[in-house]
Amino acid sequence: MQNPDEKPLRSFGFHTRSVHAGARPEPNTGARAVPIFQTTSYVFEDPESAAAYFNLQEYGNTYSRIMNPTVAAFEERVGNLEGAIGAVAFASGLAAQSAAFFTLLNPGDHVVASAALYGGTVTQLKHLFRKMSVGLTFVDPDAPENWKAALTDETKLLFAETIGNPGGNVLDIEPVAAIAHGHDIPLVVDNTFATPYLCRPIDWGADIVVHSATKFLGGHGTSIGGVVADSGEFDWSNGRFPVIADPSPAYHGLAFHQTFGGYGYLMKLRAETLRDLGGAMSPFNAFLFMQGVETLPLRMERHVANAVTLAEWLRDRSEVTAVRYPGLDDSPYSSLTKKYLPKGAGAVFCFDLAAGRQAGQEFIRAVELFSHLANVGDAKSLIIHPASTTHRQLDEEELAAAGIGPGTIRLSVGIEDVDDLIWDLEEAFARIA
Ligand SMILES: *Cc1c(COP(=O)(O)O)cnc(C)c1O
Repeated sequence: MQNPDEKPLRSFGFHTRSVHAGARPEPNTGARAVPIFQTTSYVFEDPESAAAYFNLQEYGNTYSRIMNPTVAAFEERVGNLEGAIGAVAFASGLAAQSAAFFTLLNPGDHVVASAALYGGTVTQLKHLFRKMSVGLTFVDPDAPENWKAALTDETKLLFAETIGNPGGNVLDIEPVAAIAHGHDIPLVVDNTFATPYLCRPIDWGADIVVHSATKFLGGHGTSIGGVVADSGEFDWSNGRFPVIADPSPAYHGLAFHQTFGGYGYLMKLRAETLRDLGGAMSPFNAFLFMQGVETLPLRMERHVANAVTLAEWLRDRSEVTAVRYPGLDDSPYSSLTKKYLPKGAGAVFCFDLAAGRQAGQEFIRAVELFSHLANVGDAKSLIIHPASTTHRQLDEEELAAAGIGPGTIRLSVGIEDVDDLIWDLEEAFARIA
């Protein structure tokens, strides 16, 4: 945000930045909301400035696969909220993640990732990246020594979710970041479930944060999108990342880290990976995400309050054998929650029905207010049976590692009146009795 010369500098609070960061009234028209710049391309002033843009000597709009003013406002807002130096938006969370990894990896490199991940991420790492000859080791994320034991000379990044989907594992970010840095590699964290309102991984040592904006950032279940934010702190010239430090043949010999310093990774992510893989966020979706982010802190407070109430209520039901919400006092993650998620452990969690798979599917058939669908982070409450849907592609061992049993039900608790949500679940319990 611009600071008028005569005023002292002020660090604005999170609510203020959720509404204002990255945006100011549009100078040509005075439009207060960020307009949807629904354009593929931008007229250059003259041939010289066009050449300077394409050479990355000047920063200017060229083509909306690489940059767009509406998308840029969203990128700047998320980067600001995460405490990053900047961010690049993508067409989906998985597009953001694959681009974040792709920018860092070469064939023969190796990734160490948490075993407790979103199902689509497991598939992406295990199959897509293996196809590109990237090695992979999944670790139980809960003990930092597991991460250390899995490192090889080829390991180029560590990857985990702040709050694991759907097991609710809370990552002990500080020691895992220290292990990464001891090996001269970055820690990449998927902060989708926490959002920057509940946790800012960069504050605890993470280097790169990825998001599925599809979830809480957007918050209304209208748009698919993703974003990568960078702390700008990692030293890409430490000898381990020639892919960013050395002259790039894909950008006529540009050495990204030397040229752009702390922005080297983000510039390569945009100017090469986004350019070449092409999964750009649409301006219209960026506009909708901006509307969502304005109310992010308000929604998260309500999501968390409702989730705590439901988790405690479910814990006391005889039909339920376990509730895996890291925000419960008796959760094994309770102390990590207090440290990293003092405002709450999000609103997505699983519980296990004693009666197993059949009862799980019956329960889902019985709810009315909860919507049965494969998403999380909507203002509306959502429900799913992971073993037969989102995590269907995983084998038994992978299911167990991800903390999913046959009777596991996943809730994404919305912002409705919590009494109505309890009513809905109560009716469903009665139905399966
Ligand atoms: C949904 C999700 C993704 C993938 O995001 P898309 O926007 O669906 O591509 C990645 N990580 C987590 C934790 C998610 O919940």
